[in-house]
Amino acid sequence: MTQYVYDLADGNASMKPLLGGKGAGLAEMASLGVPVPDAFTVTTQACVETMNRGGEWPESLWGEVTEALARLEERTGRKLGATEKPLLLSVRSGAVQSMPGMMDTILNLGVSDETVDALGREAGNERFAWDSYRRFISMYGEVVEGIASHVFEDALAALKLEKGAEQDTDLTTEDLKELVARYKKLASDELGGEWSSDPVEQLRRAIDAVFKSWLNPRAEVYRKANNISADLGTAVNVQQMVFGNRGETSATGVLFTRNPSTGVKELYGEFLTNAQGEDVVAGIRTPRPLAEMEQVLPEAYAALLDTMNKMEQHYRDMQDMEFTIENGELFMLQTRTGKRTAAAAIKTASDMVAEGLITKEEALQRIEPAQLDQLLHPTIDPNNTVTALATGLPASPGAAVGTVVFSADEAAERGENGEKVVLVRFETTPDDIHGVLQAQGVLTSHGGMTSHAAVVARGFGKPCVAGVPGLRIDLENQQFTIDGTVVKHGDTVTLDGGTGEVFLGALALVPAQINDDFSNVVSWADEVRQLGVRANADNGPDAAKARELGAEGIGLCRTEHMFMAADRLPAMHKMILAETDEERADALAEILPMQQADFEAIFTEMKGLPVNVRLLDPPLHEFLPSLVDQSLLVQKLELTGGDPAELAAERKTLAQVKRLHEQNPMLGTRGCRLAMLYPEIPEMQARAIIRAALAVLEREGETVEVEIMIPLVALQAEIKIQREIVVDAVEDELELAGKELPYTVGTMIELPRAALVADQIAKYADFFSFGTNDLTQTGIGISRDDAENGFLGHYVDDGVIKSNPFATIDVDGVGELVRIGVEKGRAVKPELKLGVCGEHGGDPASIELFQKLGLDYVSCSPFRVPIARFAAARAVLNQR
Ligand code: PEP
Ligand code: MG
Repeated sequence: MTQYVYDLADGNASMKPLLGGKGAGLAEMASLGVPVPDAFTVTTQACVETMNRGGEWPESLWGEVTEALARLEERTGRKLGATEKPLLLSVRSGAVQSMPGMMDTILNLGVSDETVDALGREAGNERFAWDSYRRFISMYGEVVEGIASHVFEDALAALKLEKGAEQDTDLTTEDLKELVARYKKLASDELGGEWSSDPVEQLRRAIDAVFKSWLNPRAEVYRKANNISADLGTAVNVQQMVFGNRGETSATGVLFTRNPSTGVKELYGEFLTNAQGEDVVAGIRTPRPLAEMEQVLPEAYAALLDTMNKMEQHYRDMQDMEFTIENGELFMLQTRTGKRTAAAAIKTASDMVAEGLITKEEALQRIEPAQLDQLLHPTIDPNNTVTALATGLPASPGAAVGTVVFSADEAAERGENGEKVVLVRFETTPDDIHGVLQAQGVLTSHGGMTSHAAVVARGFGKPCVAGVPGLRIDLENQQFTIDGTVVKHGDTVTLDGGTGEVFLGALALVPAQINDDFSNVVSWADEVRQLGVRANADNGPDAAKARELGAEGIGLCRTEHMFMAADRLPAMHKMILAETDEERADALAEILPMQQADFEAIFTEMKGLPVNVRLLDPPLHEFLPSLVDQSLLVQKLELTGGDPAELAAERKTLAQVKRLHEQNPMLGTRGCRLAMLYPEIPEMQARAIIRAALAVLEREGETVEVEIMIPLVALQAEIKIQREIVVDAVEDELELAGKELPYTVGTMIELPRAALVADQIAKYADFFSFGTNDLTQTGIGISRDDAENGFLGHYVDDGVIKSNPFATIDVDGVGELVRIGVEKGRAVKPELKLGVCGEHGGDPASIELFQKLGLDYVSCSPFRVPIARFAAARAVLNQR
């Protein structure tokens, strides 16, 4: 029979899939002799089966829970609901991958009218007992009974106002008794019946509520954003309560073993005396820095630091820990791998290798390639002279510029529409996650560095400034004030999440700088990876950036941009409108030196490395005015009786536009099809490439490895003919110059047919570069220009398709076309060089596939080059 419930002593770290991160962590700590309150864990499997049964528990589950409860009562010498030595429990979620604050928790279960006196008597602290009671009613009421949180919050605020209490801790025992009475009345009114207090029944319902919280909307948003499967379910930890709210020698807090923003090895945590855990992480009271605990609770502080170091050594990774101190005695409530920014991931990995804690390969495994994207974003110009409006806690680094909005819904909606907004909140709750995801950054007036808002923002790499003192939000008037300055909804602000500064207006940003730790760790990736990494670049500055970021050449230089520049369009028009071969040749002769200059700029930056230049790809009509605009222009000239010569010229253009118009231009006269009609174009381009390569050789003493690539090939005849045109032009140029230069000619594989007949095509190609953008478009039959705005979005949201195939390669379909292309190409030409230059070349998940298929290199946009270097190393490690 399946076991659904495990006692603390029966678990360990390796049981994380079953016990969740928290359950496994607790069990592991207990086994290492760390003080952990006794507990049992209901497995993730129990949650999954309950979901699969439409919310009904597996038959044996309740029996197992009551037996585990009896054992816990036996071990602790306490009993749930007893009027002497009552047992109080926490019931907490614990998924396999941590989802901070996304699911529900119930504390103080077991306190009731019957047990509250015993609790106070035993603690010698009546106030504490009633404080626990009021906490329980509001938490259970909200989580299990579904009563809106403001019902309790309003009652608490009203009582504090009546009693003149600033803080919750200013309320007396009598005040708290009064509050409990009011809470019970409110709950009874909301529920239309008496507040029941059968703790065993409450336990059953609390466990059930935690199961259900796996499916709540914020958890769903979080899972989607983090690619966590909805099938995993959460475990439920039922643990004996220890109390941080037993007075001033009690406390609760959270710590990270290293700074999760920067990775620096330093004390990083917060605590509150006379409080329970939710007070710290929910951002309701602004907690105190952990260092101050040394003065208040010196012994517990020393024990905490000792445990913290032990746990980091044990797990050999940065830990995120929760603790409670009850009457000076330390208890650990959680240890888990700490969420961190990309900068912190790099720094901790690099430091831990230096400390001998982990190997270089382990360091690489610890850094998510996709997360590195964060580091490649701009920061505030260090020479900025604008003074900050205010300074809060630097909760998540990075610069954010955006207009102020006050609701998560608005942030989500406007962010999705491509607007840059900054979400300003009193505190963020996990319910705001959809807004946080779409905002540039988050600003809160309350909450600390370890609040859920901060943890979640760091996880997503969103800049966050939290707990800004003196920031008052006036929701009614949609504005906030700091020190007399009023900032309205729609005003622009800039946040620096690394310093905690808030500025009015949009500050200048500077590109990200790659620091030594980053270079260090990326160089380890280079030692491991097998795939080459090149960049897609089509001008000098991009090529320079790519090289700086470690690109080993250019995998795709799209030449169409060079034709579209304003100074080239007239010559392009002339070429398209040419009526004789001579006219066309004249026009192309005008373009040639411009092309050559473009190539020289790129080749100069890339000398010594391979550069793959792709010949012209887009359809000709893209160089002409639109059909509608041109028709209107001609009509207007006709109606106004304009200059006859002008009218004739515009009519001629209109005729050309009509002649070249295609219903499906992406499936039309593109790529080599155009070159088949106008062989002068590839000939001119080949000459420009060779002249540029020779000029750079002459000037710099070194030039690039020239690769000339023919696009959109589907037929063997196309590559055969185009290759001949290119080779003839190149040889002619070399002969004219009296020089020699090695070069290769190859093709894009970006149509399914090309992949399927890759053996035929390989006969005339020195290399293949898989154009996975077009291969996805034509392989799945989805227009790359329209799909994301249309049905594809729904498909991704509804899970019809796992992810956007234009971002991450569709392994089974398009990936199979690549595989066939590789196999057939290499079958006739084992030395065939193989690369990828579609967007997938910079996507870590797709890079896994390219590694498996044995490609030689990937090529991606310059800023993704470091990510690709990492991902390529990870792909090798994962393959092992
Ligand atoms: C491709 O199709 O994958 C490709 C790189 O070419 P382009 O995006 O220019 O069509
Ligand atoms: Mg293409």
